[in-house]
Amino acid sequence: MSASSKPLIVKCPNCGCSVPWLPEQLAKPFCSERCKLIDLGEWAMEEKRIPGEPLALDDEFEEDNFFQ
Ligand SMILES: [Zn+2]
Repeated sequence: MSASSKPLIVKCPNCGCSVPWLPEQLAKPFCSERCKLIDLGEWAMEEKRIPGEPLALDDEFEEDNFFQ
């Protein structure tokens, strides 16, 4: 075994800092559990940003009928 083996360094996808690719680095490729959660949160937000179907159109329609 070589004594000069260094751990692989990756960059945290969230904050960009260097993360040693080690078994004890549980949140890898993120530098911390916090960065991991932030990144996952952003993904969830982007999914929610996709416009859905318009809501409550029936309500307005019913009100209009009421006044006629
Ligand atoms: Zn990070």
